[in-house]
Amino acid sequence: MNSSPTSAAHSSSDPDVFPDGPATFRNHTPGRDVNDIDDLRDRLPRFTGGRELMEPRVVLLDLDGTLIERGQPVPGAARAVVELRRAGHTVRIFTNTDSQSEATLVDRIRRLGIPVALGEIFTPVIAAREILAATPGSRVLVLADRAVRDELAAHRSPDAGPPTHVVVGDCRETLSYPALDAAFRAVRAGAELLALQRGRYFRAADGDHVDTGAIVAAIEFAAGKPARVLGKPSQDFLRLAAQSAPADLLWVVGDDGTTDIPMAITAGATSVQVRTGKYLDQQATEALPRPTHTINSIADLPALLPPP
Ligand SMILES: [Mg+2]
Repeated sequence: MNSSPTSAAHSSSDPDVFPDGPATFRNHTPGRDVNDIDDLRDRLPRFTGGRELMEPRVVLLDLDGTLIERGQPVPGAARAVVELRRAGHTVRIFTNTDSQSEATLVDRIRRLGIPVALGEIFTPVIAAREILAATPGSRVLVLADRAVRDELAAHRSPDAGPPTHVVVGDCRETLSYPALDAAFRAVRAGAELLALQRGRYFRAADGDHVDTGAIVAAIEFAAGKPARVLGKPSQDFLRLAAQSAPADLLWVVGDDGTTDIPMAITAGATSVQVRTGKYLDQQATEALPRPTHTINSIADLPALLPPP
C-alpha cells in the first residue's frame, strides 16, 4: 500500500524546494514501487475537476447526415467509429428511422462499411418495443407498414382485449381510412398514442411526401389527446438510447440543430455538431442553439475525444 502524504519519505532536496508543496510532489520518491502510478491516477480526478479526463464516454452518433449522406458513408466515418471503440468509448448509433426493422437497418449500415452490431443501434421502433416490453399486459395496435408491425408482433394480440397502446410509424404503403379510424377509436377509448416520430414531411428523389407526424396529428385532433413522441428530440428517447449513462459521460453527435443538439443540451450532455448533412441549410435559415463543439465532419471526432 502507498504511504500517506504525511508519512512519505522525502528526497533530500524536496523540503527545500517544496516545503509545503502539493501532495503529489511531497509524495514522490524515486524508486518507489509502481503503485505510485495508481496512486497518482486516483488523485488526478480531484485536480481536473472530476472524471472529465478519466472515464470512457457513451457516444451517440446520429446516422443520416452524420455517418452517411445521400446514401453513402461520410468520408472517415467507419474509421472514426473504429477509433472511438478502440479508445475504449461505447459507441451507439441513433436515428429517427421509423420504417425499418433493427436487423434491416444494421445490415444497411454494415454494407456501407460502418461497423455496427445488433444492440448498438437505437431507433423509435426499438424504443416502442422496450416501452411495451416494460408494460405488463400491453396490447398494441400498430398503424405502420409491415417491417414495424413485425418488429412489435410480440405485443399485438387483437383478440385479447382493447389496445393499451397505438403506435404510429411510417405507413405510406398500407394506410387506409379503416386503419386510421381504428387507431382513432382505440386512442379515444383510452389507449396511449405513441408516435415513432413527428416529421411533417420528408424529402425523396421525386419530391416531398406526407410524413408520420401528419398522421399522428390527425389522430390527436380527432381523439383530442396528445401523442407521446418516441423519436428525437424526446428526452425519453435519449435516456433509452444512452442506457442510463450519466449526462457528464454522454456525448451526442449530430448534424441537426433542431433535434440532436437541443436534445443533448436539455439533457446536460456534451453536444457535437458536424458540418455535414443539414448543417449548412440550417445555418442559413434558422437561429439555433450553440453546441458544445462544432467539427467539420465525423472524421474529426476521435481527435476531439481522446482515449480515457
Ligand atoms: Mg441527422
